[in-house]
Amino acid sequence: MENNAYSIANSDAPLIEEGVFLSYHTSFKIGGVARFFIEAKSIEDIKKAVDFAHSHHLDFFVLGGGSNTVFSDKEFDGVIIKNCIKGIEIIKEDEEGAEVKVFAGEYFDDVVEFCVSRNFCGIENLTAIPGTVGGAIVQNIGAYGTEIKNTVISVDIFNTQTQIIETIDLNDLHFGYRDSIFKKDSHKNAIIISVRLKLLKGRPSNLIYKDLKNYFEGRDETQVSISEVREALQVIRSKKFPDLSLFGTAGSFFKNCIMNQDQFHELQKNFPDAPYFDAGKGLVKLPSGWILDKVCGLKGFREGNLGLYEHQSLVVVNFGSATNEELKKFISKIKEEVFKKTKIILEEEVIVL
Ligand code: NAP
Repeated sequence: MENNAYSIANSDAPLIEEGVFLSYHTSFKIGGVARFFIEAKSIEDIKKAVDFAHSHHLDFFVLGGGSNTVFSDKEFDGVIIKNCIKGIEIIKEDEEGAEVKVFAGEYFDDVVEFCVSRNFCGIENLTAIPGTVGGAIVQNIGAYGTEIKNTVISVDIFNTQTQIIETIDLNDLHFGYRDSIFKKDSHKNAIIISVRLKLLKGRPSNLIYKDLKNYFEGRDETQVSISEVREALQVIRSKKFPDLSLFGTAGSFFKNCIMNQDQFHELQKNFPDAPYFDAGKGLVKLPSGWILDKVCGLKGFREGNLGLYEHQSLVVVNFGSATNEELKKFISKIKEEVFKKTKIILEEEVIVL
């Protein structure tokens, strides 16, 4: 390591590594080499890493837990900045609830554990989602009827152009379905540093999804605690989603299909039993997993190193040493099949570079 690593300016500066395999830093276990790789553990480190990229006229890419990104097989000729800034602080707490500040490099599930163990309600349904807090915000992660946006007060970012920390309030974060302002070109230069969450004391926020309903069948829902919800989801998800320590995967690969009423009624003519949910603003949500399973018969479909997980078709699994090229071909094939049968263009949730 001594030979291919050096410091930026002084002994406090973060270590810059050269020629780091990105496949080791993403849950899909795909990706070529990064020319430079920096683990940033503080805001100072972030500033130094960005300065390094600017002064060497290199692009940079900010990585969190690597659970939603698939890198190219080719060399990344720039700087990967892995956001490892950790910390969880209770800003205020009273009998109603609490405000918590969490830093972007924290594992999101550790934040859920922190909150649940203190009876801070609001994110317990987001149990066992891989990735860091930064990624959770970019993606507006959601599960079992809860989205992170429901608890966000504001996000602090490092503006890489002005080099200052700015606070963006909830209304300006433009959260949507697996979407936020951080996916827009206007905020490509923002590095998420921390987020303030507002949590309530009391009861679980949402038990409406069938898996949770089934789990607590026969119980008085008003007596279910948030620790029980967390335990339930650990069990439910371990059965439905592959073990990240055994397989390469990025969780749900595709977004659900959101369409207007006319499009949905057209589709219903061919698929009268299609399940659907209200997606707000007059739109309809159709589970993409259902299309893959029931319309296309693709559950468990496997080709080469890649496949759709046998217990959850939305999850693409790297069973061996798949490449980015192979993944792109596999995904095109799945999307073509879906389009042929439904005229729907499936959208990726995962960022494939
Ligand atoms: P599921 O319960 O089998 O339901 C299939 C789909 O139908 C889900 O995608 C869900 O949409 C939708 N749905 C089910 N019940 C609903 C209701 N009562 N109201 C509105 N929509 C409903 O789903 P699953 O595949 O086992 O996944 C369970 C949950 O975990 C889902 O919420 C899924 O999004 C979430 N999840 C999140 C991630 C991630 O963020 N990385 C990864 C995997 C799974 P929604 O997806 O909009 O909830």
